Amino acid sequence: MSGRHPAEPWRIKMVERLPVTTRQERQRALRDAGYNISLLRSEDVYIDLYTDSGTNAMSDRQWAALMSGDEAYAGARSFYRFETAVRDHYGYEHVIPTHQGRGAENILSRALIRPGCHIPGNMYFTTTRAHQELNGGTFHDVIIDEAHDPGCEHPFKGNIDLAKLERLIHEVGPEHIPYVSVAATVNMAGGQPISMANLTAVRDLTRRHDIPIILDAARAVENAWFIRQREPGWQDHTVAGVLRELCARTDGATMSAKKDSLANIGGWLGVRDAGLAEQARNLVVLYEGLHTYGGMAGRDMEAVAEGIAESVQEENIRARIDQVAYLGRQLSDAGIPLVHPIGGHAVCVDAAATLPHLPRDEFPAQTLAAALYLDSGVRAAERGTVSAGRDPDTGGNRHPRLELIRLTIPRRVYTQSHMDVVADGVISVYKQRDLLDSGLRFVHEPDVLRFFQARFLPTAPDSILTRPAREP
Ligand SMILES: *Cc1c(COP(=O)(O)O)cnc(C)c1O
Repeated sequence: MSGRHPAEPWRIKMVERLPVTTRQERQRALRDAGYNISLLRSEDVYIDLYTDSGTNAMSDRQWAALMSGDEAYAGARSFYRFETAVRDHYGYEHVIPTHQGRGAENILSRALIRPGCHIPGNMYFTTTRAHQELNGGTFHDVIIDEAHDPGCEHPFKGNIDLAKLERLIHEVGPEHIPYVSVAATVNMAGGQPISMANLTAVRDLTRRHDIPIILDAARAVENAWFIRQREPGWQDHTVAGVLRELCARTDGATMSAKKDSLANIGGWLGVRDAGLAEQARNLVVLYEGLHTYGGMAGRDMEAVAEGIAESVQEENIRARIDQVAYLGRQLSDAGIPLVHPIGGHAVCVDAAATLPHLPRDEFPAQTLAAALYLDSGVRAAERGTVSAGRDPDTGGNRHPRLELIRLTIPRRVYTQSHMDVVADGVISVYKQRDLLDSGLRFVHEPDVLRFFQARFLPTAPDSILTRPAREP
């Protein structure tokens, strides 16, 4: 690519005003939020890169589709359109709608996981593992070691280590593994893809032991793009074709339509097995809604159906990945320690390498995210010790090797100029990193998914996070 960034493949039909705040206002907002960026109000955030989940800009066609939603309680036309879109693009025969991805995870985990079960996966995801554990299962990370090394340039850091998986199968017995959980791409590793060859090998291994594979399909379109770009043999395929091939190697999927599918809400569970589908439909009625709406309004199902079709349009997915790469390149050129290669939905800054002087139990990533917000009004997400939670056996903080702040790019929302602002903010905080000489401690710590609602205080009274702003 030349120095110039390719133009966005859309034009703007409606705009939304961005809140602009002073450093003093941000300092107050941060204090009120208990130094947890998850608790900031959106109106105090200038550029919000907390997540790409449900924060996408819908197209004119999606907005138009909303108006044609059929809100019938049972058998809505919108459900059948939704079901057809999922079947056509992902290939699962049975489609159970849910309000979002975790609804599908709940249904699946309740159907398949019993106390004493073991679930291997390519790195944990917060809600996925929480549902596995709530149902008595134990999660095992079987991702390749390279995924835990932020600097390593492996093109498929989402790959499963077959030796680790095989060892686990022998240790606990295949009968205690209800399924292998395969994420594409791997969110917690920074949006790293799994290769088709690796997934094929996982399928061959699990088939020998009669263990199903469940795909976490939230960003499978982005994964398909990387396969086409990086994996020999796939260059002549469409992204839609690669996506179908990915799904063909799995027995089912949980989906958050708030990611790839360009919607603001929605999800589904897709399975091939009729018995499991029957069980899931019984559960969905209890936890989500009838099996023809599953917690979504008819109009939501319309928006998702249209979004699925748009998600595999070549120019859409190309612009998406290129924009993330553009931000990554700017930060990388400035010497910021990042997770490499740049992932599909996010640029991840290595907070442990940025703040090596901070102990892990003072939460370097949470501290760096707070400092970035204070500096520029940009909200990142913490993906490190706070997100990882406590070890249920020892009670101590888990210390994942990756201690990151994740700059997550919503789809079709921000322009290239916004990416420049973000890059300037991150670079500015990086240059002042020596001033971040103390971290944070808990003053309130929830039991489950603690990163969302925890509250902190700076560990030192003169922390840069609380120091009065210098007059400009
Ligand atoms: C977002 C996400 C989920 C959960 O989906 P929700 O729609 O947020 O409930 C599961 N897995 C991955 C990889 C995700 O990114």
